[in-house]
Amino acid sequence: MTADESAPTASVEDRREEWAGPVPVPTGANTEFWAATLEGELRYQHCDECGTAQLYPRAVCTGCSAVDPPFEPSEGRGTVYSYTVCHVPGEPGFGDRTPYVVAAVDLAEGPRLLALVDCEPEAIEIGDPLEVRFWQVSDEAALPVFVPE
Ligand SMILES: [Zn+2]
Repeated sequence: MTADESAPTASVEDRREEWAGPVPVPTGANTEFWAATLEGELRYQHCDECGTAQLYPRAVCTGCSAVDPPFEPSEGRGTVYSYTVCHVPGEPGFGDRTPYVVAAVDLAEGPRLLALVDCEPEAIEIGDPLEVRFWQVSDEAALPVFVPE
């Protein structure tokens, strides 16, 4: 916990030189999402027609098919819905990361996303509170990575 825990942005760590995993390419509906990650902000789409909250970004609302549902900033906190410990790398560039943790994270605002969790495999359980950090992996994108609160 820090004094600025209510601040809307999280830390962005520059990992461009060491990152060997996949790199997101901003395009279409996710362009705004990835731009915000560089500023340490996790955004989700919140439909102003029907109230559906969704992530990953899509060109239409999954609730009512409204086009281009607007983005809102998430506070970057969530809980572990489920997780897995990867001993065989799911990506070639993750070979030296094993074992690593991937979780389905329920954000406080509602959407559920898959993300890396930066912790030891023994240090995570379903229901644990997490908060987001960012690893910048290119000039265009920073990955949301969660850590235990
Ligand atoms: Zn909608």
